[in-house]
Amino acid sequence: MASTNLMSLGNVEKKDFLKSFDYFICDCDGVLWHGRVPVPGAQEVLKNLVSIGKKRFYFTNNSALTRKQFVEKFNSLGFDAKEEEILSTAWLTAKYLKNINFNKKVYVVGGTSIKEELDKFEIENFGAGPDNYEARGSSNFTLESSDIELVPDVGAVVVGYDLFFSYPKVAKAKCYLNDPKCLFLATNKDEKIPIAGGLTVPGSGALVAAVEVCSDRKADVIGKPSPFAIDHVLIPSGIDPKRCLMIGDKCSTDIYFGNQRGMITLLVETGLHRYTDLEKFKSSGMDHLIPSYYTSSVADISKIMRLP
Ligand SMILES: [Mg+2]
Repeated sequence: MASTNLMSLGNVEKKDFLKSFDYFICDCDGVLWHGRVPVPGAQEVLKNLVSIGKKRFYFTNNSALTRKQFVEKFNSLGFDAKEEEILSTAWLTAKYLKNINFNKKVYVVGGTSIKEELDKFEIENFGAGPDNYEARGSSNFTLESSDIELVPDVGAVVVGYDLFFSYPKVAKAKCYLNDPKCLFLATNKDEKIPIAGGLTVPGSGALVAAVEVCSDRKADVIGKPSPFAIDHVLIPSGIDPKRCLMIGDKCSTDIYFGNQRGMITLLVETGLHRYTDLEKFKSSGMDHLIPSYYTSSVADISKIMRLP
């Protein structure tokens, strides 16, 4: 499986590329922006694609915001967005539980974004935000069984990005997961998150790993690269994955996600991975990480649209 340099195509092939998809799904960090700085030309290309009839989705593994909050972020950075165009992992997790007619309680190791999305689907949940262990006045530093008040009827543990991640939370998650019928869901498993100044900080994957190790279980992932969003959101809406273009900067999440269901995939080199990484993946036999096309920036699509 080889990847094609998008801009090396002839003009006829470039136009065929534009005709080959009806929908495009854009990852956000590293594709549309870095932190709060938009990638030059990104807003324009998205607008132009919509103006020629392409339908748009945004898919971010970030679980720290609700869909409503993402719309506000998009608008503040100059991107058009509607809630129904946003595939975010707090919302997808709630949608998944709704789809399986989940009717128990969810223990959330994550932020209030997960709580708010679960609330919208009327799924009973608790645990988001700081654990109240300290507030109860515990003065020693060992956790007693009496410190762990297990709530009855918990049918799922959801782990996502959690600024208040703590030992008591991992302990409780582990206790709920002792029941093999209790679902174990991760919004995503990204190991690291890039932040300003060239630093990276732990992503949800680091927190999920802590719960996996002590519970001796593996979480089911809702975000990329899980095909959940394709199988449970796009296909049921009548969307053919083969007519979708997935645009991303990370091969192990974005590109793998699209490749699993036959989407056309495009790696943009404004984020994590570059063409040189593709050669490494190929020589290690990791064909599932190879995109259909690669190019330097999402803005290159504008150049194709301007062709006479
Ligand atoms: Mg990204």
